[in-house]
Amino acid sequence: MKAEHYVGGVFRSDGPSFPLIAPVDGSELGTVPEATREVVDDAVTAAQRALRGPWGATGAEERAAALRAVADGIQARFDEFVDAEVADTGRPRDFARTVDVPRAIGNFRAYADLLYGRPERAYTTQVPGWSAGTGQALNYTVRRPLGVVAIISPWNLPLLLSTWKIAPALACGNAVVLKPSEETPSTATLLARVIDDAGLSDGAFNLVHGHGPAAAGEFLTGHPGVDAIAFTGESATGAAIMRNAADHVTPVSFELGGKNPALVFADADLDAAVDGTVRSSFTHSGQICLCTERVYVDRPIFDEFVVRLGERASALDGYGPMISAAHRDKVLSYYRLARDEGATVVAGGGAPAFGDERDTGFHVEPTVLTGLPETARTVREEVFGPVCHVAPFDTEDEALALANDSPYGLASTVWTRDLSRAHRVAPRVETGIVWVNCWNLRDLRTPFGGVKASGIGREGGEYSLDFFSEPVNVCIQI
Ligand code: NAD
Repeated sequence: MKAEHYVGGVFRSDGPSFPLIAPVDGSELGTVPEATREVVDDAVTAAQRALRGPWGATGAEERAAALRAVADGIQARFDEFVDAEVADTGRPRDFARTVDVPRAIGNFRAYADLLYGRPERAYTTQVPGWSAGTGQALNYTVRRPLGVVAIISPWNLPLLLSTWKIAPALACGNAVVLKPSEETPSTATLLARVIDDAGLSDGAFNLVHGHGPAAAGEFLTGHPGVDAIAFTGESATGAAIMRNAADHVTPVSFELGGKNPALVFADADLDAAVDGTVRSSFTHSGQICLCTERVYVDRPIFDEFVVRLGERASALDGYGPMISAAHRDKVLSYYRLARDEGATVVAGGGAPAFGDERDTGFHVEPTVLTGLPETARTVREEVFGPVCHVAPFDTEDEALALANDSPYGLASTVWTRDLSRAHRVAPRVETGIVWVNCWNLRDLRTPFGGVKASGIGREGGEYSLDFFSEPVNVCIQI
Protein backbone atom coordinates (compact mmCIF):
# COMPACT_ATOMS: atom_id res chain seq x y z
CA MET A 1 0.00 0.00 0.00
CA LYS A 2 1.55 3.27 -1.13
CA ALA A 3 0.46 6.28 0.91
CA GLU A 4 -0.37 9.33 -1.21
CA HIS A 5 -1.91 12.76 -0.73
CA TYR A 6 -5.19 13.41 -2.54
CA VAL A 7 -5.63 17.09 -3.38
CA GLY A 8 -8.29 18.54 -5.66
CA GLY A 9 -9.00 15.13 -7.15
CA VAL A 10 -5.34 14.36 -7.88
CA PHE A 11 -3.08 11.81 -6.14
CA ARG A 12 0.43 13.02 -5.44
CA SER A 13 3.39 12.14 -3.25
CA ASP A 14 5.87 14.89 -4.02
CA GLY A 15 8.23 16.26 -1.39
CA PRO A 16 9.88 14.62 1.60
CA SER A 17 8.79 11.27 3.02
CA PHE A 18 9.23 9.11 6.12
CA PRO A 19 9.17 5.34 6.70
CA LEU A 20 6.05 3.46 7.81
CA ILE A 21 6.91 0.82 10.42
CA ALA A 22 4.87 -2.32 11.18
CA PRO A 23 4.21 -2.48 14.92
CA VAL A 24 3.88 -6.25 14.92
CA ASP A 25 7.54 -6.91 14.03
CA GLY A 26 9.22 -3.54 13.43
CA SER A 27 9.67 -4.11 9.68
CA GLU A 28 9.36 -1.29 7.14
CA LEU A 29 6.03 -1.34 5.29
CA GLY A 30 6.75 1.53 2.91
CA THR A 31 7.11 5.30 2.90
CA VAL A 32 4.68 8.12 3.58
CA PRO A 33 4.85 11.57 1.96
CA GLU A 34 5.13 14.45 4.42
CA ALA A 35 2.87 17.31 3.37
CA THR A 36 4.66 20.64 3.18
CA ARG A 37 2.91 23.93 3.82
CA GLU A 38 2.39 24.21 0.04
CA VAL A 39 0.59 20.85 -0.14
CA VAL A 40 -1.65 21.85 2.78
CA ASP A 41 -2.35 25.22 1.09
CA ASP A 42 -3.24 23.41 -2.11
CA ALA A 43 -5.64 21.12 -0.24
CA VAL A 44 -7.42 24.01 1.50
CA THR A 45 -7.63 25.93 -1.79
CA ALA A 46 -9.05 22.86 -3.54
CA ALA A 47 -11.66 22.50 -0.80
CA GLN A 48 -12.64 26.17 -1.11
CA ARG A 49 -12.92 25.79 -4.86
CA ALA A 50 -15.16 22.72 -4.44
CA LEU A 51 -17.49 24.73 -2.21
CA ARG A 52 -17.76 27.48 -4.82
CA GLY A 53 -18.20 24.86 -7.55
CA PRO A 54 -20.35 21.77 -8.11
CA TRP A 55 -19.94 20.33 -4.60
CA GLY A 56 -21.30 23.52 -3.05
CA ALA A 57 -24.36 23.28 -5.27
CA THR A 58 -25.28 19.67 -4.37
CA GLY A 59 -28.57 18.93 -2.68
CA ALA A 60 -29.20 16.43 0.08
CA GLU A 61 -30.26 13.72 -2.33
CA GLU A 62 -27.05 13.91 -4.35
CA ARG A 63 -24.90 13.95 -1.23
CA ALA A 64 -26.74 10.95 0.20
CA ALA A 65 -26.11 9.10 -3.06
CA ALA A 66 -22.43 10.05 -2.89
CA LEU A 67 -22.13 8.75 0.68
CA ARG A 68 -23.83 5.48 -0.31
CA ALA A 69 -21.42 5.11 -3.24
CA VAL A 70 -18.49 5.53 -0.82
CA ALA A 71 -19.98 2.90 1.52
CA ASP A 72 -20.37 0.51 -1.43
CA GLY A 73 -16.82 1.25 -2.54
CA ILE A 74 -15.40 0.33 0.88
CA GLN A 75 -17.53 -2.81 0.89
CA ALA A 76 -16.18 -3.79 -2.53
CA ARG A 77 -12.58 -3.45 -1.27
CA PHE A 78 -13.32 -4.84 2.19
CA ASP A 79 -10.32 -7.18 2.37
CA GLU A 80 -7.89 -4.50 1.20
CA PHE A 81 -9.11 -2.21 3.97
CA VAL A 82 -8.74 -5.03 6.52
CA ASP A 83 -5.20 -5.82 5.31
CA ALA A 84 -4.17 -2.15 5.42
CA GLU A 85 -5.57 -1.57 8.92
CA VAL A 86 -3.97 -4.76 10.25
CA ALA A 87 -0.59 -3.90 8.70
CA ASP A 88 -0.54 -0.32 10.06
CA THR A 89 -1.83 -1.06 13.57
CA GLY A 90 -0.86 -4.69 14.24
CA ARG A 91 -4.39 -5.24 15.59
CA PRO A 92 -5.99 -8.72 15.41
CA ARG A 93 -7.45 -9.35 11.96
CA ASP A 94 -10.80 -10.22 13.46
CA PHE A 95 -11.05 -6.77 15.08
CA ALA A 96 -10.51 -5.02 11.73
CA ARG A 97 -12.97 -7.39 10.04
CA THR A 98 -15.74 -7.05 12.61
CA VAL A 99 -15.25 -3.50 13.93
CA ASP A 100 -13.08 -1.11 11.88
CA VAL A 101 -14.24 -1.73 8.34
CA PRO A 102 -17.95 -2.49 8.98
CA ARG A 103 -18.21 0.60 11.18
CA ALA A 104 -16.63 2.76 8.47
CA ILE A 105 -19.21 1.48 5.97
CA GLY A 106 -21.93 2.02 8.59
CA ASN A 107 -20.80 5.62 9.18
CA PHE A 108 -21.35 6.53 5.51
CA ARG A 109 -24.67 4.66 5.29
CA ALA A 110 -25.98 6.14 8.55
CA TYR A 111 -25.33 9.73 7.48
CA ALA A 112 -26.79 9.09 4.03
CA ASP A 113 -29.97 7.95 5.82
CA LEU A 114 -29.97 10.89 8.22
CA LEU A 115 -29.58 13.47 5.46
CA TYR A 116 -33.23 13.56 4.58
CA GLY A 117 -34.21 14.48 8.10
CA ARG A 118 -32.00 17.31 9.04
CA PRO A 119 -29.57 19.71 7.51
CA GLU A 120 -31.80 21.23 4.90
CA ARG A 121 -35.06 20.99 6.80
CA ALA A 122 -36.63 24.36 7.46
CA TYR A 123 -38.14 24.74 10.89
CA THR A 124 -40.87 27.31 10.50
CA THR A 125 -42.38 29.13 13.41
CA GLN A 126 -45.14 31.73 13.40
CA VAL A 127 -44.31 34.38 15.96
CA PRO A 128 -47.26 36.77 16.49
CA GLY A 129 -46.66 40.16 18.08
CA TRP A 130 -42.92 39.98 18.07
CA SER A 131 -40.78 42.37 20.03
CA ALA A 132 -40.93 45.45 17.78
CA GLY A 133 -44.72 45.33 18.08
CA THR A 134 -45.15 45.61 14.34
CA GLY A 135 -47.31 42.56 13.78
CA GLN A 136 -46.55 38.99 12.80
CA ALA A 137 -43.43 37.46 11.45
CA LEU A 138 -42.49 34.15 9.97
CA ASN A 139 -39.20 32.83 11.27
CA TYR A 140 -37.58 29.89 9.60
CA THR A 141 -34.22 28.31 10.11
CA VAL A 142 -31.97 26.77 7.51
CA ARG A 143 -28.83 24.78 8.15
CA ARG A 144 -25.75 25.83 6.28
CA PRO A 145 -22.40 23.98 5.99
CA LEU A 146 -19.46 25.49 7.87
CA GLY A 147 -17.19 25.47 4.83
CA VAL A 148 -13.74 23.84 4.83
CA VAL A 149 -13.47 21.34 7.67
CA ALA A 150 -10.08 20.08 8.85
CA ILE A 151 -10.22 16.59 10.30
CA ILE A 152 -7.27 15.38 12.38
CA SER A 153 -7.45 11.74 13.43
CA PRO A 154 -5.41 9.43 15.69
CA TRP A 155 -3.80 6.05 15.06
CA ASN A 156 -5.82 3.86 17.40
CA LEU A 157 -8.96 3.43 15.25
CA PRO A 158 -7.77 5.08 12.04
CA LEU A 159 -10.56 4.32 9.57
CA LEU A 160 -13.41 4.15 12.07
CA LEU A 161 -12.69 7.48 13.74
CA SER A 162 -11.88 9.43 10.58
CA THR A 163 -15.04 8.26 8.77
CA TRP A 164 -17.03 9.06 11.93
CA LYS A 165 -16.22 12.71 11.11
CA ILE A 166 -15.85 12.64 7.31
CA ALA A 167 -19.34 11.20 6.69
CA PRO A 168 -21.33 13.80 8.67
CA ALA A 169 -19.06 16.63 7.45
CA LEU A 170 -19.74 15.71 3.81
CA ALA A 171 -23.42 15.02 4.57
CA CYS A 172 -23.81 18.63 5.68
CA GLY A 173 -22.19 19.90 2.48
CA ASN A 174 -18.76 20.84 3.82
CA ALA A 175 -15.51 20.18 2.00
CA VAL A 176 -13.01 18.12 3.98
CA VAL A 177 -9.24 18.09 4.41
CA LEU A 178 -8.22 14.98 6.37
CA LYS A 179 -4.86 14.57 8.06
CA PRO A 180 -4.67 11.06 9.49
CA SER A 181 -2.08 9.99 12.02
CA GLU A 182 1.43 9.65 10.65
CA GLU A 183 1.46 6.13 12.14
CA THR A 184 -1.55 4.91 10.14
CA PRO A 185 -1.82 6.45 6.65
CA SER A 186 -2.92 3.41 4.64
CA THR A 187 -6.70 3.12 5.07
CA ALA A 188 -7.01 6.89 4.55
CA THR A 189 -5.24 6.53 1.21
CA LEU A 190 -7.53 3.63 0.25
CA LEU A 191 -10.53 5.73 1.27
CA ALA A 192 -9.34 8.51 -1.05
CA ARG A 193 -9.19 5.93 -3.88
CA VAL A 194 -12.77 4.87 -3.08
CA ILE A 195 -13.98 8.48 -2.95
CA ASP A 196 -12.24 9.18 -6.25
CA ASP A 197 -13.93 6.15 -7.85
CA ALA A 198 -17.28 7.18 -6.36
CA GLY A 199 -17.04 10.38 -8.37
CA LEU A 200 -17.34 13.02 -5.66
CA SER A 201 -16.54 16.48 -7.01
CA ASP A 202 -12.84 17.29 -7.05
CA GLY A 203 -11.83 18.95 -3.79
CA ALA A 204 -14.87 17.81 -1.77
CA PHE A 205 -12.53 15.42 0.03
CA ASN A 206 -8.78 16.00 0.32
CA LEU A 207 -6.13 14.03 2.14
CA VAL A 208 -2.74 15.22 3.36
CA HIS A 209 -0.29 13.02 5.25
CA GLY A 210 2.33 14.01 7.76
CA HIS A 211 3.16 14.77 11.35
CA GLY A 212 1.45 17.13 13.79
CA PRO A 213 3.62 19.74 15.54
CA ALA A 214 5.41 22.18 13.20
CA ALA A 215 4.16 20.03 10.32
CA ALA A 216 1.04 19.19 8.31
CA GLY A 217 -1.26 19.04 11.37
CA GLU A 218 -0.22 22.47 12.58
CA PHE A 219 -0.20 24.00 9.07
CA LEU A 220 -3.76 22.78 8.60
CA THR A 221 -5.28 23.70 11.97
CA GLY A 222 -3.74 27.19 11.85
CA HIS A 223 -4.77 27.79 8.23
CA PRO A 224 -6.94 30.89 7.74
CA GLY A 225 -8.95 29.07 5.06
CA VAL A 226 -10.14 26.38 7.48
CA ASP A 227 -13.61 27.09 8.87
CA ALA A 228 -13.84 24.32 11.51
CA ILE A 229 -11.65 21.67 13.09
CA ALA A 230 -12.76 18.21 14.19
CA PHE A 231 -10.03 16.47 16.15
CA THR A 232 -9.60 13.19 18.00
CA GLY A 233 -6.42 12.60 19.97
CA GLU A 234 -4.60 13.49 23.16
CA SER A 235 -5.84 16.29 25.41
CA ALA A 236 -2.45 18.06 25.21
CA THR A 237 -2.68 18.02 21.41
CA GLY A 238 -6.22 19.41 21.68
CA ALA A 239 -4.85 22.29 23.75
CA ALA A 240 -2.12 22.96 21.15
CA ILE A 241 -4.68 22.91 18.32
CA MET A 242 -6.96 25.23 20.27
CA ARG A 243 -4.14 27.75 20.70
CA ASN A 244 -3.37 27.50 17.00
CA ALA A 245 -7.05 27.85 16.05
CA ALA A 246 -7.56 30.83 18.35
CA ASP A 247 -5.99 33.30 15.90
CA HIS A 248 -8.83 32.71 13.45
CA VAL A 249 -11.52 31.89 16.09
CA THR A 250 -12.03 28.56 14.32
CA PRO A 251 -14.69 26.40 15.98
CA VAL A 252 -13.51 23.03 17.31
CA SER A 253 -15.03 19.65 18.05
CA PHE A 254 -12.69 17.66 20.30
CA GLU A 255 -12.64 13.99 21.34
CA LEU A 256 -9.69 13.77 23.71
CA GLY A 257 -8.00 11.49 26.23
CA GLY A 258 -9.36 9.74 29.29
CA LYS A 259 -8.49 8.00 32.54
CA ASN A 260 -11.66 6.00 32.63
CA PRO A 261 -12.98 4.57 35.91
CA ALA A 262 -14.94 1.38 36.56
CA LEU A 263 -17.01 1.04 39.76
CA VAL A 264 -17.62 -2.54 40.87
CA PHE A 265 -20.16 -2.86 43.67
CA ALA A 266 -20.39 -5.91 45.95
CA ASP A 267 -23.86 -6.66 44.58
CA ALA A 268 -22.53 -6.99 41.00
CA ASP A 269 -22.53 -10.21 39.02
CA LEU A 270 -18.86 -10.88 39.70
CA ASP A 271 -18.29 -13.07 36.65
CA ALA A 272 -19.75 -10.37 34.40
CA ALA A 273 -17.75 -7.64 36.14
CA VAL A 274 -14.46 -9.53 35.76
CA ASP A 275 -15.23 -10.41 32.12
CA GLY A 276 -16.28 -6.84 31.41
CA THR A 277 -13.16 -5.36 33.02
CA VAL A 278 -10.90 -7.72 31.07
CA ARG A 279 -12.54 -6.40 27.90
CA SER A 280 -12.65 -2.77 28.98
CA SER A 281 -9.02 -2.65 30.13
CA PHE A 282 -7.29 -4.89 27.60
CA THR A 283 -9.17 -4.75 24.27
CA HIS A 284 -6.78 -3.58 21.52
CA SER A 285 -4.13 -3.67 24.26
CA GLY A 286 -5.77 -0.73 26.02
CA GLN A 287 -5.37 1.52 22.98
CA ILE A 288 -9.01 2.60 22.84
CA CYS A 289 -9.92 5.94 24.35
CA LEU A 290 -12.80 4.24 26.21
CA CYS A 291 -10.59 1.67 27.97
CA THR A 292 -10.66 1.43 31.76
CA GLU A 293 -7.44 2.36 33.57
CA ARG A 294 -8.87 2.86 37.10
CA VAL A 295 -10.97 0.15 38.76
CA TYR A 296 -12.64 0.83 42.13
CA VAL A 297 -14.00 -2.27 43.88
CA ASP A 298 -16.25 -2.63 46.95
CA ARG A 299 -14.04 -3.84 49.79
CA PRO A 300 -15.93 -7.14 50.49
CA ILE A 301 -15.14 -8.43 46.99
CA PHE A 302 -11.85 -6.58 46.44
CA ASP A 303 -9.44 -9.48 47.09
CA GLU A 304 -11.35 -11.98 44.98
CA PHE A 305 -11.78 -9.47 42.15
CA VAL A 306 -8.05 -8.68 42.07
CA VAL A 307 -7.05 -12.37 42.02
CA ARG A 308 -9.48 -13.18 39.23
CA LEU A 309 -8.60 -10.12 37.12
CA GLY A 310 -4.88 -10.86 37.55
CA GLU A 311 -5.32 -14.49 36.46
CA ARG A 312 -7.28 -13.46 33.40
CA ALA A 313 -4.77 -10.74 32.45
CA SER A 314 -1.85 -13.17 32.75
CA ALA A 315 -3.60 -15.63 30.46
CA LEU A 316 -4.32 -13.08 27.71
CA ASP A 317 -2.71 -13.51 24.33
CA GLY A 318 -3.16 -11.83 20.98
CA TYR A 319 -4.55 -8.37 21.71
CA GLY A 320 -1.86 -6.87 19.49
CA PRO A 321 1.21 -4.66 19.94
CA MET A 322 1.60 -1.01 20.88
CA ILE A 323 1.44 1.22 17.80
CA SER A 324 5.13 2.19 17.80
CA ALA A 325 8.45 1.70 19.56
CA ALA A 326 7.99 5.15 21.13
CA HIS A 327 4.57 4.24 22.50
CA ARG A 328 5.84 0.87 23.76
CA ASP A 329 8.64 2.70 25.58
CA LYS A 330 6.13 5.16 27.06
CA VAL A 331 3.90 2.35 28.38
CA LEU A 332 6.90 0.46 29.82
CA SER A 333 8.09 3.67 31.47
CA TYR A 334 4.72 3.83 33.28
CA TYR A 335 5.16 0.20 34.39
CA ARG A 336 8.53 1.19 35.90
CA LEU A 337 7.07 4.37 37.38
CA ALA A 338 4.26 2.36 39.02
CA ARG A 339 6.86 0.17 40.78
CA ASP A 340 8.80 3.26 41.86
CA GLU A 341 5.57 4.75 43.19
CA GLY A 342 5.05 1.63 45.32
CA ALA A 343 2.60 -0.47 43.26
CA THR A 344 2.08 -4.18 43.72
CA VAL A 345 2.25 -5.77 40.27
CA VAL A 346 -0.50 -8.42 40.27
CA ALA A 347 -0.01 -9.38 36.61
CA GLY A 348 2.32 -8.41 33.77
CA GLY A 349 4.52 -5.38 34.29
CA GLY A 350 6.97 -5.83 31.43
CA ALA A 351 7.47 -6.83 27.80
CA PRO A 352 6.77 -10.43 26.75
CA ALA A 353 9.29 -12.70 25.05
CA PHE A 354 7.64 -14.86 22.36
CA GLY A 355 10.74 -16.50 20.90
CA ASP A 356 9.60 -15.60 17.35
CA GLU A 357 9.47 -12.62 14.94
CA ARG A 358 7.13 -10.74 17.29
CA ASP A 359 10.11 -10.07 19.57
CA THR A 360 11.19 -7.26 17.22
CA GLY A 361 7.68 -5.78 17.47
CA PHE A 362 6.27 -3.45 20.10
CA HIS A 363 4.47 -5.75 22.54
CA VAL A 364 3.85 -5.19 26.26
CA GLU A 365 2.20 -7.38 28.87
CA PRO A 366 -1.37 -6.81 30.09
CA THR A 367 -0.80 -5.41 33.56
CA VAL A 368 -2.83 -5.23 36.77
CA LEU A 369 -1.60 -2.98 39.60
CA THR A 370 -2.77 -2.37 43.16
CA GLY A 371 -1.59 -0.43 46.18
CA LEU A 372 -0.99 3.02 44.71
CA PRO A 373 -2.23 6.23 46.32
CA GLU A 374 -4.71 8.22 44.26
CA THR A 375 -2.05 10.91 43.89
CA ALA A 376 0.31 8.57 42.01
CA ARG A 377 1.01 9.65 38.44
CA THR A 378 0.18 6.14 37.24
CA VAL A 379 -3.34 6.60 38.66
CA ARG A 380 -3.82 10.13 37.35
CA GLU A 381 -2.24 10.14 33.87
CA GLU A 382 -3.50 8.41 30.74
CA VAL A 383 -1.15 5.53 29.87
CA PHE A 384 -3.10 4.31 26.80
CA GLY A 385 -1.83 0.77 27.22
CA PRO A 386 -3.11 -2.55 28.63
CA VAL A 387 -2.97 -1.54 32.28
CA CYS A 388 -5.35 -0.84 35.13
CA HIS A 389 -4.95 0.01 38.79
CA VAL A 390 -7.44 -1.57 41.21
CA ALA A 391 -8.31 0.13 44.51
CA PRO A 392 -10.92 -0.62 47.20
CA PHE A 393 -13.78 1.61 48.38
CA ASP A 394 -16.17 1.39 51.32
CA THR A 395 -19.22 3.47 50.39
CA GLU A 396 -21.09 4.57 47.27
CA ASP A 397 -20.18 8.21 47.92
CA GLU A 398 -16.52 7.31 48.30
CA ALA A 399 -16.63 5.34 45.03
CA LEU A 400 -18.10 8.35 43.24
CA ALA A 401 -15.58 10.74 44.78
CA LEU A 402 -12.70 8.51 43.65
CA ALA A 403 -14.10 8.12 40.13
CA ASN A 404 -14.68 11.86 39.77
CA ASP A 405 -11.31 12.95 41.13
CA SER A 406 -9.73 13.16 37.69
CA PRO A 407 -8.98 15.90 35.18
CA TYR A 408 -10.57 13.61 32.57
CA GLY A 409 -14.21 12.60 32.01
CA LEU A 410 -14.68 10.41 28.95
CA ALA A 411 -16.29 7.06 29.83
CA SER A 412 -17.08 4.95 32.88
CA THR A 413 -18.57 1.57 33.75
CA VAL A 414 -20.75 0.72 36.74
CA TRP A 415 -21.22 -2.90 37.79
CA THR A 416 -24.22 -3.53 40.08
CA ARG A 417 -27.38 -5.64 40.19
CA ASP A 418 -29.18 -3.02 42.27
CA LEU A 419 -31.39 -1.06 39.86
CA SER A 420 -31.81 1.89 42.19
CA ARG A 421 -28.07 2.12 42.73
CA ALA A 422 -27.46 2.05 38.98
CA HIS A 423 -29.83 4.98 38.44
CA ARG A 424 -28.49 6.82 41.48
CA VAL A 425 -24.83 6.44 40.57
CA ALA A 426 -24.82 6.74 36.76
CA PRO A 427 -25.86 10.41 36.50
CA ARG A 428 -23.36 11.37 39.20
CA VAL A 429 -20.28 9.97 37.45
CA GLU A 430 -18.55 12.89 35.74
CA THR A 431 -18.04 11.29 32.33
CA GLY A 432 -19.76 11.86 28.99
CA ILE A 433 -20.63 8.17 28.67
CA VAL A 434 -21.66 5.83 31.51
CA TRP A 435 -22.08 2.11 30.84
CA VAL A 436 -23.99 0.01 33.37
CA ASN A 437 -23.14 -3.71 33.39
CA CYS A 438 -21.52 -3.44 29.96
CA TRP A 439 -18.75 -1.64 28.12
CA ASN A 440 -18.49 -0.14 24.66
CA LEU A 441 -22.04 -1.09 23.76
CA ARG A 442 -22.65 1.63 21.17
CA ASP A 443 -25.73 2.92 19.45
CA LEU A 444 -24.29 5.36 16.91
CA ARG A 445 -27.26 7.73 17.25
CA THR A 446 -26.46 8.50 20.89
CA PRO A 447 -24.26 11.41 22.02
CA PHE A 448 -20.58 10.48 22.22
CA GLY A 449 -17.94 12.64 23.86
CA GLY A 450 -16.20 13.65 27.03
CA VAL A 451 -16.43 16.24 29.78
CA LYS A 452 -13.56 18.12 31.47
CA ALA A 453 -10.23 17.50 29.66
CA SER A 454 -11.79 14.70 27.61
CA GLY A 455 -13.41 16.84 24.98
CA ILE A 456 -15.59 19.61 23.64
CA GLY A 457 -18.91 18.85 21.97
CA ARG A 458 -20.64 15.61 21.07
CA GLU A 459 -20.54 13.33 18.07
CA GLY A 460 -23.02 10.69 16.96
CA GLY A 461 -26.22 10.79 14.92
CA GLU A 462 -27.72 14.26 14.78
CA TYR A 463 -25.19 15.57 17.33
CA SER A 464 -22.52 15.43 14.61
CA LEU A 465 -24.79 17.24 12.16
CA ASP A 466 -25.21 19.97 14.76
CA PHE A 467 -21.47 20.61 14.76
CA PHE A 468 -20.92 20.32 11.01
CA SER A 469 -23.72 22.73 10.08
CA GLU A 470 -24.86 26.07 11.39
CA PRO A 471 -28.46 27.24 11.88
CA VAL A 472 -29.28 30.47 10.12
CA ASN A 473 -32.52 32.20 11.05
CA VAL A 474 -34.51 34.09 8.44
CA CYS A 475 -37.17 36.47 9.74
CA ILE A 476 -39.83 37.79 7.36
CA GLN A 477 -42.30 40.37 8.54
CA ILE A 478 -45.82 39.55 7.50
P1 NAD B 1 -2.16 12.55 19.22
O1 NAD B 1 -2.83 13.69 19.88
O2 NAD B 1 -0.71 12.35 19.46
O3 NAD B 1 -2.31 12.66 17.63
C1 NAD B 1 -3.58 12.73 17.02
C2 NAD B 1 -3.44 13.45 15.70
O4 NAD B 1 -3.08 14.80 15.95
C3 NAD B 1 -2.39 12.88 14.76
O5 NAD B 1 -2.88 12.92 13.45
C4 NAD B 1 -1.23 13.85 14.95
O6 NAD B 1 -0.37 13.93 13.83
C5 NAD B 1 -1.97 15.15 15.14
N1 NAD B 1 -1.22 16.19 15.85
C6 NAD B 1 -0.31 16.06 16.84
N2 NAD B 1 0.14 17.27 17.26
C7 NAD B 1 -0.52 18.20 16.52
C8 NAD B 1 -0.51 19.62 16.47
N3 NAD B 1 0.27 20.33 17.29
N4 NAD B 1 -1.31 20.25 15.59
C9 NAD B 1 -2.13 19.54 14.78
N5 NAD B 1 -2.18 18.18 14.76
C10 NAD B 1 -1.39 17.52 15.63
O7 NAD B 1 -3.02 11.27 19.61
P2 NAD B 1 -2.70 9.75 19.23
O8 NAD B 1 -1.50 9.32 20.01
O9 NAD B 1 -2.71 9.59 17.76
O10 NAD B 1 -4.01 9.03 19.80
C11 NAD B 1 -4.14 8.61 21.11
C12 NAD B 1 -4.91 9.64 21.92
O11 NAD B 1 -6.18 9.86 21.32
C13 NAD B 1 -5.21 9.19 23.34
O12 NAD B 1 -5.05 10.28 24.21
C14 NAD B 1 -6.67 8.77 23.27
O13 NAD B 1 -7.36 8.80 24.51
C15 NAD B 1 -7.21 9.77 22.31
N6 NAD B 1 -8.44 9.30 21.69
C16 NAD B 1 -9.64 9.85 22.07
C17 NAD B 1 -10.82 9.39 21.51
C18 NAD B 1 -12.16 9.97 21.89
O14 NAD B 1 -13.14 9.68 21.22
N7 NAD B 1 -12.25 10.77 22.94
C19 NAD B 1 -10.79 8.36 20.57
C20 NAD B 1 -9.56 7.81 20.22
C21 NAD B 1 -8.38 8.30 20.77
